[in-house]
Amino acid sequence: GNTFAGKSVLVTGAASGIGRAAALSFAAQGARVAVSDVDTTGGEQTVAMIAEAGGEAVFIQADVSQSAQVQALVEAVVARFGRLDCAFNNAGIEIEHKPLAESDEQTFDRIMNVNVKGVWLCMKHEIAQMLKQGGGTIVNTASVAGLVGAPTQPIYAGSKHAVVGMTKTAAAEYGRAGIRINAVCPGVIRTPMMDQAIQREPRRQKMIEKIHPIGRLGEAQEIANAALWLCSDSASFVTGHQLAVDGGLTAI
Ligand code: NAD
Repeated sequence: GNTFAGKSVLVTGAASGIGRAAALSFAAQGARVAVSDVDTTGGEQTVAMIAEAGGEAVFIQADVSQSAQVQALVEAVVARFGRLDCAFNNAGIEIEHKPLAESDEQTFDRIMNVNVKGVWLCMKHEIAQMLKQGGGTIVNTASVAGLVGAPTQPIYAGSKHAVVGMTKTAAAEYGRAGIRINAVCPGVIRTPMMDQAIQREPRRQKMIEKIHPIGRLGEAQEIANAALWLCSDSASFVTGHQLAVDGGLTAI
């Protein structure tokens, strides 16, 4: 398709997983893609994959939790492509597996800095640019842990609920300015990390499959598809929405 022909698109966390799948899909649909991540090696790989498929992309390194780096990132995208039509704020971390009373302050600060401050900083600079040019679309990656609780991940769940709260609020603030802002909420997605965990502990696969009524894990591409739809004109009356892409996990 040509849904994003000529559009300038920024994807964070695009060195891997969901972000990489989305960057490839945006490029396949005609977008000029700014691939951003802290991980330069993976980010350059994503750019190479896009180039191989005949698409246009550039890698811009940035840590989304660092104010100056996020400002420089948005400036670099605009310097390169002239504007910013769509942003997929997808960078995030998930490093805790402890109930709340056992969780520690360092973990709290780290998760909140990347997942909450990162999305806030990205939106702040992206919205400023979109106001200048008269509109745009933003999708933030939350999680099912932004909709319901996630035992052993209290901080992560708090961070993703915060993403949902900022998404709804910014959508209300900037709807009249032509900026649509939504969140995508993945269930458990098959990633290299998840594959390794399952190889170590095969019983986990059954358990993870069971929590999704669809009976399997999700694929990064299935989340990318939802993010692209929310960014596209097909979703022109959708804003402030939390789209669960979770195989029915939050339906039961
Ligand atoms: P992933 O680890 O494959 O990709 C995340 C990317 O974000 C990595 O390339 C990483 O380098 C990058 N990143 C981490 N910290 C960063 C920072 N400070 N600045 C810039 N980039 C940074 O994981 P994924 O599964 O593709 O995760 C993408 C998003 O989806 C995350 O927000 C995650 O919380 C969310 N999510 C994932 C799942 C799942 O099951 N995989 C479920 C729900 C939500």
